[in-house]
Formats: sequence, structure tokens, C-alpha cells
Amino acid sequence: MLHRLRLLVLCSLLLMQIQAIAQGAPSSAKAHKKVLLLMGTRFELVAVSENEQLANNAIDAGVNEIKRIEALISEWQPTSQTSAINRAAGSMPVSVDPELYHLIERSIKVSRLTDGAFDISFAAAYKLWKFDGTMTQMPAPEQVAASVKHIGYQRIKLNSANYSVFLDDPEMKIGFGAIGKGYAANRARDVMRKMGIKAGVVNAAGDMVTWGKQPDGQPWYIGIADPAEKDKVFSWLTASETAIVTSGDYEKFVEIDGKRYGHIIDPRTGYPASGLKSVTIICPDAELADALATATYVLGPEDGLYLINQLKGVECLLITDKDEMLASDNLSLHFYQNTSSPRKESKTATEQP
Ligand code: ADP
Ligand code: MG
Repeated sequence: MLHRLRLLVLCSLLLMQIQAIAQGAPSSAKAHKKVLLLMGTRFELVAVSENEQLANNAIDAGVNEIKRIEALISEWQPTSQTSAINRAAGSMPVSVDPELYHLIERSIKVSRLTDGAFDISFAAAYKLWKFDGTMTQMPAPEQVAASVKHIGYQRIKLNSANYSVFLDDPEMKIGFGAIGKGYAANRARDVMRKMGIKAGVVNAAGDMVTWGKQPDGQPWYIGIADPAEKDKVFSWLTASETAIVTSGDYEKFVEIDGKRYGHIIDPRTGYPASGLKSVTIICPDAELADALATATYVLGPEDGLYLINQLKGVECLLITDKDEMLASDNLSLHFYQNTSSPRKESKTATEQP
């Protein structure tokens, strides 16, 4: 069974209940929505507005922004600046757009904060694994151990005088799989907001950012599906200026000898990280949430929870590989009164919307 912590904006049945108790005068604003494939992921953009034309224009501008970012940062597109940095690894620095330079700078900051659990230079180990189901054998342990030598954010050399980036090892490569969607979601929101959209959602397959309120004045309700019964929403949280991002082993993984290996690499060992099935981070910034979700996944239940509890304004919900649910100290989750879930909850707030 797939154990996936699914997050969804509750806009069907539950929303009807929510609207039934909404206070204040009804507004003529509506939520306009577009779903499409971007960055290899299903993106959903929602704009709340009374003006349908404006909402659609803003959504299109958000989409173009995501496409622009993908062309700049993708390690898969040979024409991207990231690919230019990777090709020049070990030979010379490459001057890039300040935008990419600053993204790399912020990535390195997260590496420092997480003691290297998050590291955009993960690629040397990642390439030994095929997370598309085609792999049947473990890579040789010597190969895995050797790959770790080519990972290390400390060897990404930045020069702010000419915005150049140099990878100090010919075998080293960088990639933004663990932070790019969050960054793109932030930017798409900013673009839509600048155009006058006061409320909306950008959702990249469960990595989402919300702003403003629903058309009826209520906050956005983010449903959390039971990992054991994935079609059942058993708890939810409310969000207005919040990003909610999940990392897990549910999408990209390989199974060898009955054991599942997810696509997040522990840079300390070169092996896929273990101990958690899923990590959800809740904080105002989607980029930070994205990077911290990956880092927490690498750090595991104990160290991961410890890290998040140190960070002001950042909360998390973890599901361990033993199906235990762990929440950070100040997470405000709501549970249904009659939940049949036998799981031990560390938060007990129980109410009905
Ligand atoms: P998802 O893509 O499911 O939202 P993540 O945000 O956690 O998940 O990103 C996982 C991706 O990040 C991997 O597919 C890989 O491209 C990259 N990655 C893997 N391990 C690391 C790591 N330790 N640090 C940074 N990036 C990583
Ligand atoms: Mg991530």
C-alpha cells in the first residue's frame, strides 16, 4: 500500500460545510483555477478574484514565471545555467544570473543549518540509484562510499564580485530537486499578488503556498489524508500566509529485496535516507519549507524533530516508517471528532469545522 501523507485544499464537501458557517456578507469573488504539468509535476494555480479576466491573466503570468525559473535552474535542460555550472565542474567558474547565484547561496545556508543533510551537490550518489522501478540490485558498497567524496556544499565556491559559481571537483554536480518547486511556488505567488490577486494557492503536487482567504472570507483549509487510508481526510489545518510542503518516499522509489528506498539521499552515507515515510513542513516560505522537508527526512525522526523545534515559525508533521505520527511543539492541527484512526496523536485538539 502507498503510504502517502496527502495534502489537499479542501474545496468540495468540507468546503460546503465551511461555507455554511462562514460569517459576514457573501462576496462575488470566485476561486479561478488552472492545472498543468510544469517542472515534471502537476501544478495547480488558484486565484481568487471578482474579475475573471484578471484572475486568468494572473494565473498565466504565474505559469510563465514557473517556466522561466525551470529554464534557468533545471539540471536536466542542457541550455540552463545550472547545466553550464555542472559542465564546468573542476575546470572553471561560471558567471550566472544573480537570481541563480542567490538561490545557490540560500541553498548553502540551509546546508549549514542542517549540518549538510540538505545538499544540492547530492548528485554523485543519486546517479547510482534508479528511482523509476527498473533497479533490481543494490549498487556496490565501494561505489556508494566513493560517491560521497564528490558531495559537499563546502566545495561550491561562490564569488559575489562576478556572480560566479565553481564546483571544486570534476565529479561534482548540483541540482535543485529539493528546493526548486518551493522557490517557483513563492515566485508564482509573488507575480500573481503583484497583479492584484489578494488570495490564492499555488500547489505543486502537494507542495503548496497559500495567501489571503477563500472567497467567503474563511482561511484555506488544508486536509491531511490518513497515510494508511489515503482517500480519507482525517485532520486539517488552516492556512492563510503559509506554505505546506511534503517530502516522502511515496512517489519516486525503488524496491530491492522487499525494502523500499526513496529518492532522498543521505549525503553522509550515499544511501537513501531511512526512518521516515513522510515529512510535512509548515512555515511562511515555500522555498525554506521545501528544503527543510528534505533535510528533516534525511535527519530522521529524532534529529529532524529536534531541528524543527529549534526554528521559530516552522512546524512539522512526521510519519515514521513504523507509522507513528510525530508533530512539532507548536503545530496546530485539527482532528475529526469521530476519527477511527488508532494512531497515537501528539496533538489532541479535536473539533469540527
Ligand atoms: P519531492 O520532489 O518529492 O517534493 P524533495 O523536495 O524532498 O521531494 O526532493 C527530492 C529531490 O531532491 C530528489 O529527487 C533529488 O533530486 C534531490 N535530493 C535528493 N537528496 C537530496 C539531499 N540530501 N539534499 C538536497 N537535494 C536532494
Ligand atoms: Mg524538498
